Amino acid sequence: MLAAMPQPPSAASRDAPVIRERGDACPGALRLHAADDGFLARVRVPGGLLTVQQASALALAADRFGDGHLELTSRGNVQLRGLADGCGAGLAELLDGAGLLPAPSHERVRNIVATPLSGLDGPDRPDASAWAVDFDRLLCAAPWAAALSGRFLFAFDDGRGDVAALAPDVTVLGRSRGRALVRLGRAGDAVELAGQDAPRAALLAARYFLDAAAEAGTQAWRVAELPAEHALEEVEFIRRLDAAGIAAATVRAVDWPYAAPPRPSRAGGHDRATLCVLPPLGRIDSAQWRVLVEVADEGSGRLRVTPWRSVVLPSAGARAAARIEAVGLVLTPDSPWETVTACTGRPGCAKSLADVRADARAVADRARGPLPVHWSGCERRCGHPRGTAWVDLVATGSGYRLAAPGRPVREDVRPSELAAALADARTDPDVVKK
Ligand code: SF4
Repeated sequence: MLAAMPQPPSAASRDAPVIRERGDACPGALRLHAADDGFLARVRVPGGLLTVQQASALALAADRFGDGHLELTSRGNVQLRGLADGCGAGLAELLDGAGLLPAPSHERVRNIVATPLSGLDGPDRPDASAWAVDFDRLLCAAPWAAALSGRFLFAFDDGRGDVAALAPDVTVLGRSRGRALVRLGRAGDAVELAGQDAPRAALLAARYFLDAAAEAGTQAWRVAELPAEHALEEVEFIRRLDAAGIAAATVRAVDWPYAAPPRPSRAGGHDRATLCVLPPLGRIDSAQWRVLVEVADEGSGRLRVTPWRSVVLPSAGARAAARIEAVGLVLTPDSPWETVTACTGRPGCAKSLADVRADARAVADRARGPLPVHWSGCERRCGHPRGTAWVDLVATGSGYRLAAPGRPVREDVRPSELAAALADARTDPDVVKK
C-alpha cells in the first residue's frame, strides 16, 4: 500500500553502500553555512536540554547577529539564520559563555536525542536525560570522536520507543530492572547490559563504527552506509565491551517498541504542569522564545527541545499556558499545525522552487488530517519525517508533487487545488503508524 511513496534520496541502504568523496558539510555553531538569507549556524543541544541561561543566550544571539528567529530542527537542535558576515567570533564567544560550546572540536558531532518526557510522565523508566548528559561528557572527552560525521546520531530512549524510531546510528533503550539495550544502526538484534554502563557502551559503539568505516575506506557517515562486508556485528561489539569491563549479552530479534511523539499539551495538576509547546513550522521569534524562557525560569529552570520541533517545559506554573498561547504558540493537540513540517524553502534556500512556509500557512486551516505532511522546496526534502506514513509535498516550479501512502502520485497540484488535495491525502485510514 505504500508503493506510491517516493524514497527520499537520503535513505541509504545496505544494498547500496555509499562511497563518500569528501567530508560532510553539516553546518555548526563554528562552521557557518552561507544561505541565501545570510549565514546559518546550527547549535547542537545534546538531549535537547537547555538551561534558562543557555536559552537566553540563544535569543540574544538571534537578535544580535541573526534575523531575530530561532529554528528547531528534527534532531532537537537550534538554528540561527540571517547571520551577518563576520559575526562568527562574536557568536562563538556568546555561545561559549553560556556553556553551549564545551568542546569546539566536537561541536558538530554532539548529535544526541533523548526521550523528551523522560521522568515527567510516569515512573519506572530510566532517566534518558541523565544518560544523554553523561554520554555528552564522554563524547567531548574522546579526541578521536571528533572524526564522526555531523550526521551520526545517538539516541537515548527511556524504553517507550519515541526517539528510538528516529533511525539513530546508536540507540540506547531502557529496559526494566535497570537494564538497557544498545542497538547498532537498524540491526534486529541488540546487546543488553547494565543501564549504568549505557553511555560508555554508546561511545564504544561509535569507536567501533569509526574503525569499521576506516577499514571499509568509503568514508561512511552513518552505520547504514557501511558495505555489507564491514557491517557492525554484535559479537565484535560484545568483545569490545568486554575488553572495557562491560558485561553484555546478545538479545535476538528484539521487538522494538514504538511511541508517538509528545503532542502539544498542558498535562499535569492544577498548580504545576508539563507543557509541550509547538511553534508553527518549528520557527519561533525571540520574543516568543523569551516567554518560554520566563516560564522555565519560574518552573524547573530547564527547557527540552524535542526532535519534533516542539519544546517541553516541566513544572510550568498555573498561568503559563495562557501566556504562551497569547503569543501565538500552540498548546492544543488538534491545532492545524500539529504534524505539519516544512523545509526552509524560499527565500532562505537557493535550491527552493517555492516559498513552502507561506504555502503551508495559506492552507493549514483547510488541510487538516491525521497523517503528517512535509513541505519541501526541492527533491532533497530536508527535515522530512521518519518512516513512510506521511504526505510528501515537493515544489515543482509549477505547483507541488503530492505523494501519499497508498495513492497514486499527483503531479503539479496548483495552489488553488492544494487545500482540498492535501486534506484528502491526509485522511488515509490504512496507514502504518511507523
Ligand atoms: S529541501 Fe531543498 S529547498 Fe528545502 S531546504 Fe532542503 S535543499 Fe533547500
